[in-house]
Amino acid sequence: MSKRFDVIVIGMGPGGETVAQRLMAAGKSVAVVEKELIGGECPYWACMPSKALLRPVEARAEASHAAGISTPAVDWAKIRNYRDIIVGYHDDSSRVDAYRSDGATVIKGEGRLAGPGQVTVNGERLTADNIILATGSRQAWPSVEGLDQVPVWTNREATSLTEIPERALLIGGSAVGVELGTFLSRMGSRVTIVQRGPRLLGREVPELSELVAARLVKDGIDVRVRCQARAVRREGQDTVVELDDGTSVRVDVVVLASGRALRTDLGLESVGVRTGARGEVPIDQHCRVADGLWAVGDITGVALFTHMALYQGRVVADNILGTPHVANYTGIPRVVFAEPEIAAVGLTTDAARRQGIDVATAQIDLPRSIRRPETYETEPSGTLGLIADRSRRILVGAWAVSPLAGEWIHTGALAVRAQLPIDVLLDGIAQFPTYNEAYYEAAAALGL
Ligand SMILES: Cc1cc2nc3c(=O)[nH]c(=O)nc-3n(C[C@H](O)[C@H](O)[C@H](O)COP(=O)(O)OP(=O)(O)OC[C@H]3O[C@@H](n4cnc5c(N)ncnc54)[C@H](O)[C@@H]3O)c2cc1C
Repeated sequence: MSKRFDVIVIGMGPGGETVAQRLMAAGKSVAVVEKELIGGECPYWACMPSKALLRPVEARAEASHAAGISTPAVDWAKIRNYRDIIVGYHDDSSRVDAYRSDGATVIKGEGRLAGPGQVTVNGERLTADNIILATGSRQAWPSVEGLDQVPVWTNREATSLTEIPERALLIGGSAVGVELGTFLSRMGSRVTIVQRGPRLLGREVPELSELVAARLVKDGIDVRVRCQARAVRREGQDTVVELDDGTSVRVDVVVLASGRALRTDLGLESVGVRTGARGEVPIDQHCRVADGLWAVGDITGVALFTHMALYQGRVVADNILGTPHVANYTGIPRVVFAEPEIAAVGLTTDAARRQGIDVATAQIDLPRSIRRPETYETEPSGTLGLIADRSRRILVGAWAVSPLAGEWIHTGALAVRAQLPIDVLLDGIAQFPTYNEAYYEAAAALGL
């Protein structure tokens, strides 16, 4: 005898939680199935601990750049303790209780599809009108000889660290690599980042990658591009990483920042669904996989961010509740919480050209263009780049490397999403003196 619900959510990260909460609030009977902790990767091993760890090193750097402040000391024991509070000591019991008291059936176990409208978990069969797949992603394991013989941190060990390693080598120069590399180096580790591609943050514009690499190198990080770890071995207490440029690096720990594997081993074949070229669960514009089957978050492969999972969760809940909602992925912000912050939105120059857009670009140096940087720090810095569609006179992309860029990129995000005419940016009034004023200056520099 199977248990019947209106909705079953498999995977309770940010995406699954959003759908579950909205449907419960609308009076649906909801079963949530989670094999680890309710909340998913983000609050325990990803966004939240990494940002809590990065904030003190950012605050220290900001203080040391402000006039007349002596550099504050960093207290690792207190940072670590605060991180432990932020991750709720990896205990989800209060979240489980909250769902139960709000009327959900909470099942701890691994859920699998067992045919249309059916899920099995812990040997039990559940049925529902709507099933939501929200199982997220895990660390992808690169093929490096000997990796199983040496100390290796995935994002989980890296964000749960209790001691700062003296020397670390990060495999991967994307957002996670840049953030963890920044943190470890600012905490005193000798850091090497190896990046297989020709540049760090390879999906962003090359100008941004250059600024970021220069900043990391200034911090003392050994950045190696077009370089891969070939093999690793243990030598006494050391791990020796052999690189394909013929050199080797001696470290205490290897940190993986080499991308994510989507968790799609879910019995998809039982409903006739095949994953796509990047291993993603294919969805339509409503985030529907098939009749009564939906997917949200990392497993859709659209963009591996919490804000994407939350958005798709809202889209699915609306569609199930009878308010048709087509997902619009224009203008999704992409922030790397390094110091200074790195932020981008919309298309890169190359992506815009590939779409046949007649592209105009501008890049401005913030200290030369606006006054906020010099009030903010004694060695003012920062860059804003804009990518515009010349014929439609709208922004299609923006990027920035600057203090607080993760906050003020949202002006660009809104402009891209709303297809705001450049003339509105040129006639807009931003508060003086703020970083946001840079949009006016950069829009003028487009020369449209
Ligand atoms: C180090 C790091 C830092 C990051 N920082 C940021 C950031 O600052 N901002 C940002 O937007 N994004 C960040 N991300 C990305 C963000 O963590 C993910 O995009 C987000 O967690 C995806 O949410 P999700 O709901 O798709 O899945 P997840 O958070 O991965 O949750 C999926 C859940 O499903 C469960 N599950 C899996 N399979 C099953 C099954 N068969 N049955 C039952 N349960 C199952 C898992 O246990 C998990 O709890 C970061 C990622 C990393 C690795």
